[in-house]
Amino acid sequence: MKNIVIYVAFLTYSLGISQTFTEQDTLRGSITPERAWWDLTYYHLDISVDPDKKFISGTNTIRYKVLDKNQVLQVDLQPPLVIEKITQDGKNLSFESNGNAHFVTLGKTQNVEEFNEIVVHYSGHPKEAVRAPWDGGFSWKKDDNGKDFVATSCQGLGASVWWPNKDHMYDEVDSMLISVQAPKGLMNVSNGRLRKVDEETNTYHWFVSSPINNYGVNVNIGDYVHFGETYDGEKGMLDMDYYVLRDNLEKAKEQFKQAPKMMEAFEHWFGPYPFYEDSFKLVEVPYLGMEHQSSVTYGNQYGNGYLGRDLSGTGWGLKFDYIIIHEAGHEWFANNITYKDIADMWVHEGFTMYSESLFIEYYYGKEAAAEYLLGIRKNIRNDRPLIGPYNVNKAGSGDMYNKGANILHTFRQIMDDDEKWRATLRGLNEEFYHQTVTTKQIEKYLDDQVEGDFEPFFEQYLRTANIPVFEYEIQNGKLKYRFTNVIDGFKMPLKVEMAGKTVWITPTTAWQSKSLKGKDIQVDPNFYVNVKKV
Ligand SMILES: [Zn+2]
Repeated sequence: MKNIVIYVAFLTYSLGISQTFTEQDTLRGSITPERAWWDLTYYHLDISVDPDKKFISGTNTIRYKVLDKNQVLQVDLQPPLVIEKITQDGKNLSFESNGNAHFVTLGKTQNVEEFNEIVVHYSGHPKEAVRAPWDGGFSWKKDDNGKDFVATSCQGLGASVWWPNKDHMYDEVDSMLISVQAPKGLMNVSNGRLRKVDEETNTYHWFVSSPINNYGVNVNIGDYVHFGETYDGEKGMLDMDYYVLRDNLEKAKEQFKQAPKMMEAFEHWFGPYPFYEDSFKLVEVPYLGMEHQSSVTYGNQYGNGYLGRDLSGTGWGLKFDYIIIHEAGHEWFANNITYKDIADMWVHEGFTMYSESLFIEYYYGKEAAAEYLLGIRKNIRNDRPLIGPYNVNKAGSGDMYNKGANILHTFRQIMDDDEKWRATLRGLNEEFYHQTVTTKQIEKYLDDQVEGDFEPFFEQYLRTANIPVFEYEIQNGKLKYRFTNVIDGFKMPLKVEMAGKTVWITPTTAWQSKSLKGKDIQVDPNFYVNVKKV
């Protein structure tokens, strides 16, 4: 018997390209009835990792609170990993599998408000990452000394690619213990704080005391050496710890001086680092990097830029180590404030790409930051909307990075008050502290900080791929102007230079006119619009 309603969603993008989603997409991407009735409270992931065989095995204990009566629970694990058995109170449970989703029939009655747990035993050869972190899975590499150098990454694909869990972003576990048995002589670094090491089995126990999203959980095994410092931050003394390959210690000590600089700039803009209890870590990995919560992974070759490149083409991108700044920026936007559905991923990437400019602004000034943001515009394709289709685990356009950052920059121009803008960014991190959110909640929060209704603004920039065109003409000493290429009801204040003076106008889709002082006007380039003189 199937316990689930089967949907196949057919969705059409606004560009008219139709895309078909499968039942598996729905099982992965929606809050199914078999997920909705229970609230995650605790995981104990306990595994051993064998790099020689590229094999993992172990258990995940899943503790939950019963919200509604139900006897069937969905847990996710992707083949070729295999579930060996699932137990509750020591008794074997039966389950039916449908691809990555496994439906467990619980023996004992699940009473509302009660806390229960199941233990999932599993093993196998997990999917190997080819281009980590983009395709995800396990990276089985060797360091220059021939020692195993192993790491996981799984955003998008899902944590169920390497461990069994409730693989949907809406429900973050409240705390988690991660126990990893590593080969002798090597160390495992995961999220949170190291609680203890079982010397005999070489098992590392890491405890995360804050809510954590699934893709944030990670295993990193290598011939690590450690150094660290304490940072005197907004919420007190923060432990900042660094784990790098033995041969890279000196390079790391130099390059990671940017970590406390990052912390100072981001606490200024966003408020206290959200995970003091769990510390902050940078952990070297054999791929570029990822925003793993409280254990940000690093593989940028100890150089500035993005693998040595400046994404903005302005020179400012070479003033900082892209992976330290960007991935750590995600501690506020991704790990503190987390999307419920990957369709809203711009909330992670738009704000975090924007955070790069705030780092620049903090150390080099506002003009430098603006140059950086205008520089990254050349990477925008406007191919499809930033927001993707919901409930099928699909992200929107890759423009969520560069365009996302420029939407925020434009919104800041409209607000026209730097201190208020900083208070808004800090306010977001307070209002949605350790929460999962929808883009609508973020849009409403921003909208509430300014006068007027900016729903059409977000509708235009997030849900269409079209950039507003500010069209104007000059006739007989008169300026006529309007917006085209926009949705009905779109309007936006715009700052223009006229005869050496700054003037605010509010174009709509209808022509408006105004007497012109001077010969021509100049639209403030900080607004992300196209300008067309007709
Ligand atoms: Zn990112």
